[in-house]
Amino acid sequence: MAKIPLVDLKAQYAAIKDEIDTAIARVIANTSFIGGKEVTQFEEAYARFQQTKRAVGVASGTGAIYLALKALGVGAGDEVITTPHTFIATAEPIEQLGAKTVLVDIDPLTYNLDPAKIEAAITPRTKVIMPVHLYGQIAPMDEIMAIAHKHNLLVVEDAAQAHGAELDGKRAGAWGAAACFSFFPGKNLGAYGDAGAVCTNDEALANRIAKLKDHGRASKYAHDELGYGERLDALQAAILGAKLPHLDDWNAARRRHAAYYDAALAHIPGIETPKVMAGSTPVYHLYVVRVSGDRDAILAELNKREIGAGVHYPIPVHLQPAMRDHGWQEGDFPNAERAAKTIISLPIYPEMTTDHLSQVVEELAEIVGVLAQ
Ligand SMILES: *Cc1c(COP(=O)(O)O)cnc(C)c1O
Repeated sequence: MAKIPLVDLKAQYAAIKDEIDTAIARVIANTSFIGGKEVTQFEEAYARFQQTKRAVGVASGTGAIYLALKALGVGAGDEVITTPHTFIATAEPIEQLGAKTVLVDIDPLTYNLDPAKIEAAITPRTKVIMPVHLYGQIAPMDEIMAIAHKHNLLVVEDAAQAHGAELDGKRAGAWGAAACFSFFPGKNLGAYGDAGAVCTNDEALANRIAKLKDHGRASKYAHDELGYGERLDALQAAILGAKLPHLDDWNAARRRHAAYYDAALAHIPGIETPKVMAGSTPVYHLYVVRVSGDRDAILAELNKREIGAGVHYPIPVHLQPAMRDHGWQEGDFPNAERAAKTIISLPIYPEMTTDHLSQVVEELAEIVGVLAQ
């Protein structure tokens, strides 16, 4: 039986080696490592891809969220509403800015923020709602935008897992003031190191973020305000630029693999396949099933059989030790807590073959048949 990783970056490199090697060699030959044409060309291409006016390349997805919130004026005394079922980097920038993370439970079927629970969490201090387009499915943005308009709030999209994902034909960045992307290597569009971008239709906001990421520069050594060292570098931009033309195909391949899993797993008792909202075209950054029975035992058995399954994420934000000052407790966000205890991410990446997929299905079905009583 073949070993099947959660994500296979070697297979992707092998498929486009010449394009990547050419891009890297070009940057090294030019020795223009910071800023310059590679970065602006990628920014323009990525803005076209996301169908926003601008994309500002930054050093990471976390940096993208931090800079977007900072540029929108989030600071001490403000509250930002987001989801407990996400990677910690959604909440970290809120806390680093001195603002307060306010959590709202998820919809147990889509794992995205439940819009029906948002209004109860709004206070006079609320400034931003930050939905996460988790696993590559756009959050229910019509509902979220309606609430934001009604209460005069800003919306920032954590789109770190949703490159190219669509809802009603629109891509991340179409709704919020800004959409924040991560190009962490394992994301649907991954750099060979850390990288990120903020996409926005607001030129002034894009310019402000472009300035903040580069030490608040007005010109080479004149600084209007204190900024940050949060630039996207030329080598990463060139690699991302070489990969971007493949991204729609890669996302389509992920959708085909997800459809295979959906069909093959649908009738296996003890496995719940992911729910897609009407009008939604996810990009399956992760393919996440819910299992009944002993999740940890099922996961351990998959890993023992060299199937790279994982959990995204095993500890919700409100139960993270780093967030202890908020005083949250077990039971505060039951849907997020139940998700953390019952989900498994199965291997998904564009280069997977039908043999890989059928092997995962077979082994999972066998394991669940024994362990999910
Ligand atoms: C990956 C990720 C981030 C952080 O991105 P980095 O590039 O690793 O800093 C933020 N939010 C979510 C939902 C993510 O998946």
